Order: sequence, then C-alpha cells, then structure tokens
Amino acid sequence: MNHQADPSSDSAFLTAFHHVATIGATDNNGVDRQALTLEDKQTRDWMRTWAESNGFEVRVDAIGNMFACLQLVPAASAGSADVPGSPVGSADTSAAPYVLIGSHLDSQPLGGRFDGAYGVIAALFAALRVKEELAESGQRPTFNLAVVNWFNEEGGRFAPSIMGSSVYAGLFDLEEMLAVTDLAGTSVAEALAAIDYDGTDTPPEAITYAEIHIEQGRILEREAMDIGVVESSWYTQKLDIDVLGEQSHTGATAMADRHDALVAAAKVVLAVAEVVGEFDDEALVSSVGQHVVEPNSPIVVPRRVHMVADLRSSDPAIVQTARDSLRRQIAEIARAHDITINVEDFDIRDKRHFPPEGVELAEKAVANEGLSIRRLETMAGHDSVAMNHRVPAVMMFVPSVDGVSHCEREFTTDEDMLRGVRVLTSVTGELVRGQLADVRDGEVWVGRSVAEARSSVTV
Ligand SMILES: [Zn+2]
Repeated sequence: MNHQADPSSDSAFLTAFHHVATIGATDNNGVDRQALTLEDKQTRDWMRTWAESNGFEVRVDAIGNMFACLQLVPAASAGSADVPGSPVGSADTSAAPYVLIGSHLDSQPLGGRFDGAYGVIAALFAALRVKEELAESGQRPTFNLAVVNWFNEEGGRFAPSIMGSSVYAGLFDLEEMLAVTDLAGTSVAEALAAIDYDGTDTPPEAITYAEIHIEQGRILEREAMDIGVVESSWYTQKLDIDVLGEQSHTGATAMADRHDALVAAAKVVLAVAEVVGEFDDEALVSSVGQHVVEPNSPIVVPRRVHMVADLRSSDPAIVQTARDSLRRQIAEIARAHDITINVEDFDIRDKRHFPPEGVELAEKAVANEGLSIRRLETMAGHDSVAMNHRVPAVMMFVPSVDGVSHCEREFTTDEDMLRGVRVLTSVTGELVRGQLADVRDGEVWVGRSVAEARSSVTV
C-alpha cells in the first residue's frame, strides 16, 4: 500500500513530519516556533499548502485557529438528517456539523519538534485516509471532518496557554484574548495581522473532538505500551507572585538598609519547590516557570521580582492545601524581609473527566490494530481539555522517550508515530460515522467550567 505516490502513506507522513521539524529548527534537534512568530507563520503556510493541495478547504477564525475542512456529507442530504448540534443559520453549504481532530503547531522557546506538531500532522493524514476509505467503501458518513491547528496552545509568548481552543470552546473571551500582549508589548491582534492570520472565517461547528499527542511522561515507555488514552486531566492552578522590595545602589547601600526583592524571591522559589515534600511522592508537582527581575541591572539591588508558580495534582484538595501552605510561608518571608509580596490565584483548571464512551472507542480501535493501550491521566494541559467542555472528546498519547518534553531532547520514534496515525484514523472513522455524538450534557463528563472553578476558589 505504501508506495511513494500515495499521498496518505506512512512514508508521506514521515516525510511531512520531518520536513515540518526543519521549520524553526534549533541546533539540538528542537524547534523554536512561538505563537505568531515568523516560524509559526511558515508552519501555518505549510499546513495551508498541504491541505489545499489535498482537497481540504482552509478557514481561519478571528483568534487565528486554522481549520482544514473536508465536506464528507453531501450538502443536499445534510438537511434531511436529524443531526444533533447542527448550526442554525450556518453559512455552510452543508448543515452537517464537523468532527474536529488536531492539536497545535506552536512551540515553547527551544521546544521539542513533537509536542503539538505531531498531533496536527497525524490528524491531516488520518483525515485524508478516512476520506479515501469512505470513497472506496461508498459509505456515507454522518458528519463532516476538519483538522484544526489551535492558536497558542503553549502560552510561552502570550499567556494564558490553550488560548485558541479555549476561545473556540467559549471558556475565554475573544476580545480579551486579542488584547493580551507579549513582553515586548505586541498584542495578539497586532501579531495575528502581522503574519496575515487575522482571520474572518466562521469556524466549523464541532460535534465531537479527537486529539493525539506525545505523552510527555514515561508511563507508556516504562510499561512498553503502544498507546495511552486519557481518562481525566489533573487539577491545576497558578499563583501570580509579585515581590516588591526597594531599589538601591549595590555598593553604597548598607546591608541593614536593603530591601532586596530577589533574595526574598529566591526563598519563595525554594518554598514552591519544597512544598511537594508535604505530600506523597509525585502526588503534587510544582515549579516557578517565569521569573522577571526589575530593573535587572548589575549595580542595582532589585526592586521587584514578578513570578508565576504552577501547582498540579490529580487531587484538587492537595493543590488547595499546598496553595494555603505557600501563602502562609510567603507571608512569613515578606515579614522577615520587611517587604511586600502580593499573591494571587489564577488560571485554575478543574480536574475533568473525558467521556468513558470515548475511552472505550479508543480501546476498541487499538485492539483492532493489534496494539496495546493503557488508561492514564494527563498532568499537562491540552486543547482537548478545553474542547471537552464543549463536545465529547477523545485524547490519546503515543510514548515519549525518557518522558521529556518542552525541551530540544523530546523524542518519539517513527514507529510509535505511525501507530498513532493508524489509531487516530480508526477513531476518526468511527466519529464521522456518528459515534460519541449523542454523549452530550451527561453528568459523567460535563464538569464545571474554568470560570466556575475560578470563582469557587477562595482568593
Ligand atoms: Zn502540546
């Protein structure tokens, strides 16, 4: 089957994947393609060209999400089917909603070449294979199909992360997100326009969602499993910590008179790292990921350090206990250093379950392919977590060598990537035939929204 001329073959997939890895390539096999940079534009342009030359219609919405659409349901027949979730008054020629599959093409600074990009390219090939299978079998699907490249999943340049899918899912406000600025003061709206991805298209209306991604952990590798299927996402929250000291001369100021924001901030960083010791091993993970020192001059005692701490656990109570402990310790550090430290909760994401019917669908697809599968939780945030607020979603993982991610050393083998494409193709085929579409608004999978979760935490 896999001869060179076949545009959906395994070798075509590998050629496409390894080509995309050259865009924004770094010295040590990573990529640097932060959202809306020139490198992000080049990757987007590659997707557009590939999709259009393979018969997809590309749309870009107002937050810069890209959708490569395949109309699988004939327009004439769509109106007669009683399709749940059909958009009312849609400009579509076909009224049938879309199965969305995809991930994100942006990366962290000095990020890996697999995180996100694998999921988008796997989805493009899975979609093409599903289209070919339907053409061969003459079967008529229930839904249309679109591959999505979500805007700014990584959040390295514009915070918060998972921005495009959260706007699509109605969790974040479009105008608010367009006004978000990077450290240089450039807004999302300006950056979208600068690379010509300030879209005006109506995005396809989703009925179900599926995503495949690298695990970014080592459970699958350790247990020699081919595929992971996600049952739930971890509870996460961030703490915005502003340490306010007093600027002075590093030479002329007496030690007793210094209010050094960086010294106090250093103790806060250690407290964030050490708070995990209050719980069982690996029950809580924490880091200070961002740290900005002002004025950052070699001869000035720092006046301000702004940082963001990230706390995650499968158990929401553990995160809340750790957060309370940190707030007490930080208040103590502020007192001891006679400076002000402001702490605010933000970006609280509730633990959420994926629909069990989707987990079973993935398990069946994997069994049909003769592969092994394991259920697991995701500690990392994903576009699928946002999408699971809006429609039933399936989230799958392929193994990560050594479990490393968000770094140049990130690696997944070609064989594992190809297995993932086969499984995603199988799951996508079931979704366009109508599977999972009726799993809606059930208590099992619809939890609280991000906004509700945010307001439920006492600040
Ligand atoms: Zn990712």
